[in-house]
Amino acid sequence: MNHDVIVLGAGLAGLAAARDLAAGGADVLVVEARDRVGGRVEQTTLPDGRLVQLGGEVVGRAHTAYTALAAELGLTLVPSYVAEPGALVRATPEGVSATDPPHWFGPGDDACRAKVTAAFTALAATVDPADPWSHPEAADLDRSSVGDWLRAQGATPAVVRLWEIGQLALADGSCERTSLLAALRKHAAVPGTSHYEYEAWEGLRVAEGSATVALRMAEALGGRIRTGSPVEEIAVRRPGRSSVRLAGGETLTASAVVSALPAGPLRSVAVTGVSEERLASLHRQRHALAAKFTAAYARPFWRDRGLSGLSECEGLLGSTWPQSEGILSALVPPERYGVLLGTPAALRTTELLADVARLYGDEAHRPLATFTRMWGTDPWTQGYVTQWTPGDVMAVGPRHGTHEPPFYVCGSDQWVAGYMEGAVRTGRAAAEEALRRG
Ligand SMILES: Cc1cc2nc3c(=O)[nH]c(=O)nc-3n(C[C@H](O)[C@H](O)[C@H](O)COP(=O)(O)OP(=O)(O)OC[C@H]3O[C@@H](n4cnc5c(N)ncnc54)[C@H](O)[C@@H]3O)c2cc1C
Repeated sequence: MNHDVIVLGAGLAGLAAARDLAAGGADVLVVEARDRVGGRVEQTTLPDGRLVQLGGEVVGRAHTAYTALAAELGLTLVPSYVAEPGALVRATPEGVSATDPPHWFGPGDDACRAKVTAAFTALAATVDPADPWSHPEAADLDRSSVGDWLRAQGATPAVVRLWEIGQLALADGSCERTSLLAALRKHAAVPGTSHYEYEAWEGLRVAEGSATVALRMAEALGGRIRTGSPVEEIAVRRPGRSSVRLAGGETLTASAVVSALPAGPLRSVAVTGVSEERLASLHRQRHALAAKFTAAYARPFWRDRGLSGLSECEGLLGSTWPQSEGILSALVPPERYGVLLGTPAALRTTELLADVARLYGDEAHRPLATFTRMWGTDPWTQGYVTQWTPGDVMAVGPRHGTHEPPFYVCGSDQWVAGYMEGAVRTGRAAAEEALRRG
């Protein structure tokens, strides 16, 4: 079967690319491995009608590509958990505290945190997020971990620990294993006074459900999407028709191919006809592995204690936040994913709920429903968001987020730090470039 463009993967990136390609008059086909669309955005409905997001959930006002797409699809953006009243809780082995700074901050720690945060934001302002490689000290900044840089700035152990707790709360990799240049680049893409401005990154959510963004695009694309069709091989030809071989042996051809596959699954696809440098760059990208745990309750009982439902933890969970009325989301960060995997499946829910109960009390043990989604070991995701270990920004290099026509690359991994914004932004950019080149 021949098409103008074949898009690989029906996550937000692939769907956004296909939507624009179809609108531009191209005959486009999306091939998707799973039996559903959406990739890392997925939702389910409780018997009482409430929607539960099992993957990507919140966005921020800085996420202009995503918010523009949501508006085009007729969806409504409403304030997320960031606007929720009540206190944030931090749970460490020493205890649970709802004070900011935490009770284990000693004299001077707060001033030290302010000083290193100011130094971080000032240094980030020297990095061009679209071209971090052009920074005069790019290689040195990339070699350094955020943890090493913090200590070199005089950060106290408590300040480094709080930074780490914040990073793992987002289910990013440890700051000891994160490239300073990557962290600066992420901040430069969405500047703010703290090292992660929650309102700018996470202050909004789609009222109709985050996965509805994908479902609406898929609905409009209709028969142009083939689910249950894993791609095994791509042969790019110029001139001539490129081909895509599916599991089972069927071969499709097209004038252009848009890959919207995550970094991990893409490594298992045999790609020929593109430069060695591009393949090396794509294959060098990696993900932080995370799991999402969601517990649905009859009511948001944490409010009884004056708490928002937002927490940062050093347990199996790295964080919790209120997803919507009575529904609590939680992440297991990469540093603890192995512990969750090693936990017998029959015990996982009990142990995750014990973490929630430590924060909010015994009512946590009585959810109406729970969902544990092991994204890190899901074969079609193999991760969560992009992870940049020291040295990775330089190794991936300036080909990051670029194309080799008629082979186009998009997906959240092709933006600075993953996220739904990265998926939509790069998906639409890939479609624009493919249409421009005809
Ligand atoms: C638990 C979790 C929470 C998150 N929370 C947020 C959040 O709150 N806010 C935010 O902005 N982002 C969040 N993210 C990240 C965000 O969801 C993703 O970055 C984004 O949805 C990725 O979109 P994508 O299209 O690039 O990739 P994906 O959604 O991963 O889509 C790729 C598609 O390719 C398919 N595929 C894979 N291999 C093949 C193959 N061989 N052949 C054919 N198809 C294949 C997959 O099945 C999938 O459908 C979260 C992610 C997770 C996992």
